[in-house]
Amino acid sequence: MNTRSALERDTLLLTIKEKNFDITIVGGGITGAGIALDAASRGMSVLLVEKADFANGTSSKSTKLIHGGLRYLKNFEIGLVREVGRERATVHKIAPHLVVPRKMLLPFYDKGTFGPLSTSIGLWVYDRLANVQGNDRRRMLSKKQTILKEPLLKQAGLKGSGYYAEYRADDARLTLENIKTAIDYGAVCLNYLKAEEFLYDENGKISGITCLDQINGKLIDIKTNYVVNATGPWTDRLRKKDDGSAHEKLFLSKGVHIVLSKDKFPLNQAVYFDVSDGRMIFAIPHHRCTYVGTTDTKYTGDIDEMTVSRKEAQYLLAAINNIFPALHLTIDDIESSWAGLRPLIFKGGKSAGELSRKDEIFISKNDLITITGGKLTGYRKMAQDVVNLVAEKLSNKQGKNFRPVYTAKISLTGGPFLNPQELKEYQTELIKRLHAFGIEDHWPEYMLENYGRQSDLILEKASSYTAVKPLEALVKAEVWFAIHHELAQSPLDFFTHRTGRIHYDRPGILKIKSLVLDEFAYWHNWNPATTAKAKAELEKALEEVVTFKD
Ligand code: FAD
Repeated sequence: MNTRSALERDTLLLTIKEKNFDITIVGGGITGAGIALDAASRGMSVLLVEKADFANGTSSKSTKLIHGGLRYLKNFEIGLVREVGRERATVHKIAPHLVVPRKMLLPFYDKGTFGPLSTSIGLWVYDRLANVQGNDRRRMLSKKQTILKEPLLKQAGLKGSGYYAEYRADDARLTLENIKTAIDYGAVCLNYLKAEEFLYDENGKISGITCLDQINGKLIDIKTNYVVNATGPWTDRLRKKDDGSAHEKLFLSKGVHIVLSKDKFPLNQAVYFDVSDGRMIFAIPHHRCTYVGTTDTKYTGDIDEMTVSRKEAQYLLAAINNIFPALHLTIDDIESSWAGLRPLIFKGGKSAGELSRKDEIFISKNDLITITGGKLTGYRKMAQDVVNLVAEKLSNKQGKNFRPVYTAKISLTGGPFLNPQELKEYQTELIKRLHAFGIEDHWPEYMLENYGRQSDLILEKASSYTAVKPLEALVKAEVWFAIHHELAQSPLDFFTHRTGRIHYDRPGILKIKSLVLDEFAYWHNWNPATTAKAKAELEKALEEVVTFKD
């Protein structure tokens, strides 16, 4: 039995005790989710356990760009640019509603990082290496054209700009759609199940894990042939549970983003710009807001408790106010924020910004397979490498054979859209249906990017709520969908990783949070104490994203 319904969790927990999985993945970020889909689609029996909600770690805290690898060109990493660019095209193809092209403006100034000639050549080479096609190819703009595109830009010292395409994807949704697609291929994926200890066979090899159910506090033993450690920033912690003397592999680099409403920061397109300390940051418009990031600093604090500091928020505000001098933004203008940790592979003597973003696989003497490093963009390839390795091990150990990778051809849930025309037609239809339902503003864009074709199910459910206003009906239907089809356990899961509202529409949450809480209490059949706990957890999170401590 496998399910995407949060209400069938207890039954699922009973069935997994009886099984011996081919592969158990610890960590429900993009790395683990990609591995689960790859392994399940090749025919392996797969379990994925995540200690909190899916995408709870770095995979909901990134800049949310499926990069073409432009930054690698600066270091002449030609092979990498080619690979990353092609991978971007693949990820767009399997989820075109979710991985969306966004125009990016790269302004150049006197004494800036990029000049007109280097940008022009760089972007030209990049287009060819990454196989960028049609409208996505770069254009070079004069100063006048640049100001027309982005009137808010500082004009003093401006020399022109490069205008090219990046791809944006909600990282948490990309993770979830991989999880859900993996479930459709037979994987069992459970959130709120924490890997605590390893179990070993008579030869000292890992043969299972003891997990802690974070919801009911019970321990559960799981049998498995191989364990893959895909715990991102928590990688070394899990490695040490297997081998207490294992050397640390990770260097954690903290990156923060702040969110401003479009009224305060009305950008026409994304901008990638210089900061006075030599770094570059992104400002990216998204639905009703614009988000800006990121920083890149060594982090040694508590991995489980991390927020944006006042100094970090002010660094980003100063960078914005310098290049968009008419804005005069202050800390009170920030609507939300997030802080994430890059799990980078440690190399002595290098700073956060200098460390490679490449991924690596390590295998312990007890056969714990760890994959870490890498990027959101490369998750599918990372999964392929790990699953190839596990397939080989299973073949040697048990003579089991599995088909080769084919995730490049698997449409993620929310699709399929066979071509851009189909996507466009669906979008037009969705706009009409939402208008007919009495809903306008940013909703069609939000529904399409968040749910793709799954919007049909949500709209159908919304039509069944006839006694309430359209917006209320739609939110109730979204909650129903999150619980029955996306394993959401709490209102916080809903507002963070299912809908992104905590980042992009915090003011909107304040209007619907009671409704959402009531719906969760209803479907999950909560008692008053559980409801109060869920409410407190949500209030704390809502407060944290706008609190900037010194
Ligand atoms: P995570 O997402 O952290 O997942 C690990 C999971 O393991 C967590 O959910 C955690 O709860 C779980 N876990 C830990 N311990 C246990 C346990 N004992 N039992 C069960 N579960 C456990 N990449 C790009 O391609 N494009 C970008 O624009 C981009 N921007 C970035 C910006 C910032 C600020 C940062 C920090 C990173 C960015 N990245 C970007 C990199 C990218 O986000 C990461 O490489 C990727 O999200 C890492 O995913 P992961 O699954 O390995 O780790």
